[in-house]
Amino acid sequence: AHLPERVREKVRDHPCYSERAHHHFARLHVAVAPGCNLRCNYCNRKYDCANESRPGVASEVLSPAEAVRKTLAVAAEIPQLSVVGIAGPGDALANPRRSLETFERIREAAPDLHLCLSTNGLALPEYVDRIVELGVEHVTVTVNAVDPAIGAQIHPAVVLERRRRRGEEGAALLIERQLHGVAALAERGVLVKVNSVAIPGINHRHLPAVAQAVRRRGAFLHNVMPLIADPAYGTYFGRIGQRGPTEAELLGLRAACGSAMPVMSHCQQCRADAVGLLGEDRGAEFSRERVAAAA
Ligand code: SF4
Ligand code: SF4
Repeated sequence: AHLPERVREKVRDHPCYSERAHHHFARLHVAVAPGCNLRCNYCNRKYDCANESRPGVASEVLSPAEAVRKTLAVAAEIPQLSVVGIAGPGDALANPRRSLETFERIREAAPDLHLCLSTNGLALPEYVDRIVELGVEHVTVTVNAVDPAIGAQIHPAVVLERRRRRGEEGAALLIERQLHGVAALAERGVLVKVNSVAIPGINHRHLPAVAQAVRRRGAFLHNVMPLIADPAYGTYFGRIGQRGPTEAELLGLRAACGSAMPVMSHCQQCRADAVGLLGEDRGAEFSRERVAAAA
């Protein structure tokens, strides 16, 4: 992706954003956020949040204290560690106390590490100030539609302030809050990447409009990911036989969205507890038992 110089400076050692850094720096996801406030038709809540992860993996949930111990253990073993992120297994901001406490403690224990957060964006407007205060530099928001009629086919319900809202009413609320959150973060200097899951026949032709809308609000990078709709994962889309995009459709779509802003194509959709260089997963070496035993 061709990023502006101002952005390139800031992503130099984030393995996900810069293809060069990809080979030299490592990232760690700490799975401290089990709950979710949204329903996505491509999700199976037994597994990690499908907004950022490959489906079919269930991460073990850590407490904030365990997450810090794990971060320090990984940093001691993998000197290239540069980024610690929260990407599930549910939504980071649907578990704000756990997620923010984790970031606070990591900030204190390992101030050199960059912090990264991934969210569906529903709760984002409330936490922009905290995110900025904590020095979280990278936020990923999953935006699959900017039209409520399309959004409702992907997200049939949202829960906000203990109220469940369904259909287009819920989808409209989600979209409004996502776009507001993206703009507020970008204004405060946080680098915002947007993920979109491409679903043929539903939001596929609409994604260039999503790219335009989020670029206008200040997002700097778009990650267009294919729906992985294996019936074995027990998701709604899997059950109704919804297919994912073909390789050719995905390439065409990335090109169409790329006219609005840079599109990334090397995201591996890694799991909520991924450890190591991209494409490498050393999660098993740093399981809760092993980290506790070494402490
Ligand atoms: Fe990077 Fe994608 Fe993994 Fe996030 S999910 S750490 S953006 S490869
Ligand atoms: Fe599942 Fe993530 Fe959607 Fe929540 S936001 S329903 S965890 S895919």
